[in-house]
Order: sequence, then C-alpha cells, then structure tokens
Amino acid sequence: MLIQCSLIIQNLVPQAEKNNSQSLRSYLLTKKVNGKYYVRVSNSTYPNGIHYDIAMLEHIYYKFIKERKMGLEFKEPRQMLLIIADDKEMLHSFYHQLIDIINGKNVIIGTRHLLNMANSNNYNNNIGCNTKPVDFVDIDRFNNSLLNMKHLGKLVLENCDLPTIPVQIGNLPIKYLSISGSKLPTSQFNQDTFWNWMSMDTICGTLSTLKMDSIGLKSLPFEILFLKNLQTLSAAKNMLTYLPHFIAEMKKLDCLFFGDNLLSYYPDSICCKIFQKVDISNNPFQLPEYHVFEHLVKYVDVFTSLKRPDDDLIVKPLSHLSFYSLINNCVPFKRQDIPRTLWLYFDVVGRCMLCKRLLLPDYCEIRHRFGLPTAISLTKDQRTTRISRQYLLCRISDKFCVKR
Ligand SMILES: [Zn+2]
Repeated sequence: MLIQCSLIIQNLVPQAEKNNSQSLRSYLLTKKVNGKYYVRVSNSTYPNGIHYDIAMLEHIYYKFIKERKMGLEFKEPRQMLLIIADDKEMLHSFYHQLIDIINGKNVIIGTRHLLNMANSNNYNNNIGCNTKPVDFVDIDRFNNSLLNMKHLGKLVLENCDLPTIPVQIGNLPIKYLSISGSKLPTSQFNQDTFWNWMSMDTICGTLSTLKMDSIGLKSLPFEILFLKNLQTLSAAKNMLTYLPHFIAEMKKLDCLFFGDNLLSYYPDSICCKIFQKVDISNNPFQLPEYHVFEHLVKYVDVFTSLKRPDDDLIVKPLSHLSFYSLINNCVPFKRQDIPRTLWLYFDVVGRCMLCKRLLLPDYCEIRHRFGLPTAISLTKDQRTTRISRQYLLCRISDKFCVKR
C-alpha cells in the first residue's frame, strides 16, 4: 500500500558529514520483490526511490500513531524513518500491513488497485504487454507496466472500483481517458489526492478527451484547468449544481456534455465562443431563492472567518493576489500544496464581463441574463428556450465596472 507523508530520514550512525534531517514530502510504498518485502521511499532526494528491507526492521515506534506519527528503525542501513502521515487511517493500515509482513503472513500488496479496472483492451497494442490485466495484483507491477506503456493513448477505467488513480498515469501521453461509471474513493485522503495525476506535465499537454459520467461528482475538480489541450469534457449524469467560471480559461474546450445534472445556471463567460457540441439536457436551470448558491456560501463562510480589520478590501489580501496569479500563470500544482481554504476559491472565481479581470466574489456583483449556450449542436430539453447565464461585474464599494 501507499501512504503520503512528511518524512525525516535520520542516520543513526554518527557521520562526519552533516546529518541531513530535513523533512520532505514523501511516498512510502510496501513492495514484494522475489518473495522479499520492502518499504520503498520516494521523495525529492530519491526521485527513483530507495528501498528498505522489512526483514531489517528492528523497531516500530507506534506510540503516537493516533497523532499520525510513526518511526521505523532499520538495522541495515542504520537509519530511522520518522513519518508524519497525511492520513491517520492510512497510517494505521500501513502499520498493520508491516506487522502482518513481520509475522510472516503472505501479504498481497496493492490488491486495492484492481487491475481489471484497467480494461486494457484500450491500451495500445504495440506496447508488447501480454499480461492480462486481472493478473496485476501487485502495485509495483501495475505501475511499472503502465510506465512502460510509453505510447498509451487511450485509457478506459469504466465501471470499476477506483480508490485512487496512480499519479504516474500523468506521465503518459494519454489523449483519451474515461472513468465513467466508476466508484470514486470514500476516504478523505484518497478524495484529496484523487486528481493529482492531472497536475503532471505530460498529460496536461496531451489529454484531449475526459469522460467522467455517472461518478457522483458534486463539483468539477479544479485540476482540469491544467489540462491545456482538453477539447471534450463530459460529466453527464452527476450531481453538479453549477459549472465553475474557470472553464472559460480552457481555450481549447469545444464539446461539453453536462446532461442529467442539477445545474441552476450556465456560465456566461463561455458564451463568447461557439462550441461544437453542448449538451445541457435534463438540468433544472432554476436559480435558488435569493440567489443563495451553496458553493458561494461555503466560500463566504471561510473568508468571513479570515476577515481582517480593513474589511472594505482596499488592499487586497495576499491570498487573493496569489490566487489570481495561480490562475493567470496556469502552472500545474497539487492541491495538497496550497491551503485547503484556497480550494474553494476555484469554485467562485471568474472574470469581469467587461474588463476581463479575474475576480473573487468580494470584488464583484453576480448577475444573470437569459439566453442559450452558444453551440453548433446544442442538446437541450425541448421546452427550454432560454436559461439563466451567470456573469460577474467588477464592484468597488458601490461602483461597478465602467470599461466597455
Ligand atoms: Zn470590470
């Protein structure tokens, strides 16, 4: 299994050179190679990983496991791994797996990555991978096989149990990815890290079709913003109540499928261009009473708790400025690298309809006008002749944007 943590590797043998005891973001992974079990550590110091033989494990310090802390002392090399895990439950499972291994149980590693999920009929056939997907029960083989598929262009992970998507998938030049009908993780940790593959350079430049129908989505993950080449986005049959304005930043988007959701409005910002196909059928398109949008309320709640003395925001808080710069520069990052409160900003940010400046709700007025999405082929309910299109307008005190 895999855990994500902050890790300090301490040398227990005094060394002449300076002991580097810096804490690094790391992945710890249990592995089985030729019948022997290892803990593999990868981080910025060991991008290719360093292996610790579990047979050399002398002591497990687990007293503070409830505080997400654990220590692993090895005889060879004489080192201590000081772990602060991101997720308590994952650390617990990791600990129990180590104990099972030490007790000589035959531990099958990585079975959670049910590879029948990777219906490899869609893998390119020229990659010379003859192993049937159901044979992949080992996380290591799973990863390596995928990484060897240098030409993998299409990946279909439909209708399967998807507790995670290995982040390494983002290193492959995949053009088409579907996770439609799959069961997404329930644990907070896995939910938080689920979209990390979208932050990898390769897939950011190659993915053109992403299908996420029927996966119980309540909001679009903001990481799709990093997929610069995305042309077709399908998220039909979900529970989306809104489409974030940031999708207007994705200049290559051409086909949108959002049928069978709970949308109450359509972003006006994407109506300045004509899409090939848009499907908005079977959505209520009814604005909530007093325009109380749930995602906006969530944002306001968080931001009010951070309110500063000058609440007229003449001087913008650094968090706002840095957030604007994140969007303007569109540099992929992992969501764990920014404060959780900033995640909410993506749901509400947009550009002023007139001057095109990026705006958070604190600086704008949210308005609606009526119309239809602009598309060559528009799929809508028969009786729909117009829907509310939401737009933003700069506001400073009581003055609105005047630029035209
Ligand atoms: Zn403006």
